[in-house]
This record gives sequence, structure tokens and C-alpha cells, in this order.
Amino acid sequence: MSNVVLVLNLNYEPLNICGLGRAVALVGSGKAEILASGMEDIRTARAVIPRPSVIKLQYLVRRPRAQVRLTRREVFIRDDYTCQYCGLRGRELTLDHVIPRHLGGRHVWDNLVSACRPCNHRKGGKRLDETRMRLARPPRRPPATQYFTGVQRQNREEAEAWAPYLPALETALHGM
Ligand SMILES: [Zn+2]
Repeated sequence: MSNVVLVLNLNYEPLNICGLGRAVALVGSGKAEILASGMEDIRTARAVIPRPSVIKLQYLVRRPRAQVRLTRREVFIRDDYTCQYCGLRGRELTLDHVIPRHLGGRHVWDNLVSACRPCNHRKGGKRLDETRMRLARPPRRPPATQYFTGVQRQNREEAEAWAPYLPALETALHGM
């Protein structure tokens, strides 16, 4: 089993993902309750509890929703592992700064795209308008949905336990 736990807000809205230790501490101190748990038990200093997989906080947290961390992998997932210049799909991708860094392009969601090696090489250090290349779509920060489903994907064992708590997410978090 992996050691990630889905944390829901008091109103059942997915809030974030935490480690097992943190989840057990929250449950142990009465700040959260277990909604879904794994098969095995966990022994804490005070008690034996089911291993949490989904917990719900007993209080309402008001804060910005979780955001997808900007990593190569998450950019590839956002772009569906597809080169944004030629449409080639695969795992052999690179990150391309649409506006090259030496021209002031920043390392941010809307300046990063997945590119296959030949396209990245072809584009080189040029601006897009200096090439004949085109982007499949303008790069944007992905919706928070990707944050939860991304972790879910990496932890297949959790996928089933989390699924009932994530379906409304697309609408709930739409327009972030
Ligand atoms: Zn390409």
C-alpha cells in the first residue's frame, strides 16, 4: 500500500493529500474521521485504528484549493504525453520553453509545453514566430482535478478507495 491519504474538507470537498503519519495524527486527535480505510490496521501510541485511505476533517478549512505542482511529469500529463508542436505521442518528451529562457521566458505553466526531441531541437532558442511551428493549444495551468487524479494515478491501490469522493470534482473545481 502507498502512504498517501485523501483529505476532504468538512463539506466533503477534496482538500489535499497527506502522508499516512499526518492522517493518523489528525484522526488520533479527533480532528478528522476515517471515511475509507485499507484492510490492515495501524498501531498508534494510543490505539489500533484501520489504516486510513480517505479522511474528512471535523472542521472547515478555508484556503486556496490545492494546485498542481509544476513538474516535468505534470506538464506531460497536462499535454497527454503529446508533443505540442507535431502531435507525436510518446514517453520520449522534453520540456520546451515557448519563449526561450534566454529571451526572458519564465518557467511557468503557460510558457512550458511538451515537445519531442526533434521539435525541441528544431525550435532551438528561437521564439515561436521565428519558426514555422505552431502550438496545438495554448499552455495553461491545469485544473486542480489533475492534482488529485495525478496522485491517484501514481497510487493505483488508492484509486478505488478515492474514486467515490472525486467524481464531482470536475464541476466542483471548474473555473479555478
Ligand atoms: Zn514534435
